[in-house]
Amino acid sequence: MPIYQYYCEACGMKSQVFKKLAELERTELCELCHTAMQRQIVAPAVLGDYPAYRCPVTGKSIEGRRAHAENLARTGCRLLEPGETDSLRRRRKADDDALDKAVEETAERFVHELPTDKREKLICEINCGADTTVTR
Ligand SMILES: [Zn+2]
Repeated sequence: MPIYQYYCEACGMKSQVFKKLAELERTELCELCHTAMQRQIVAPAVLGDYPAYRCPVTGKSIEGRRAHAENLARTGCRLLEPGETDSLRRRRKADDDALDKAVEETAERFVHELPTDKREKLICEINCGADTTVTR
């Protein structure tokens, strides 16, 4: 059902009306002054073409809406929903933080399990810089 725009010449009120083509000739009255409104000719909203981009999966240059849709189908990808990017970013940060914590705990456990002399030497090297010759 198309949307039609009406304008009241008496008070300047504008309104949009959904109506069937068969109802096109029905008079629309102004909500404010109840005068018959004039239908206006308005350009329909048209979706612009998709901006060109390089596909992150294939590296191919994609131009236009159809090529974009075909590329998504071919690569098995989809567009992110609104808010999904933030959610993904938060999840990645949580994963990174968990990985950092696991690495830190593993390193700490490793250092703790070293014989005392090696542990003290390692701590000294970490604090003072490793300018001694390393023997394994
Ligand atoms: Zn009016």
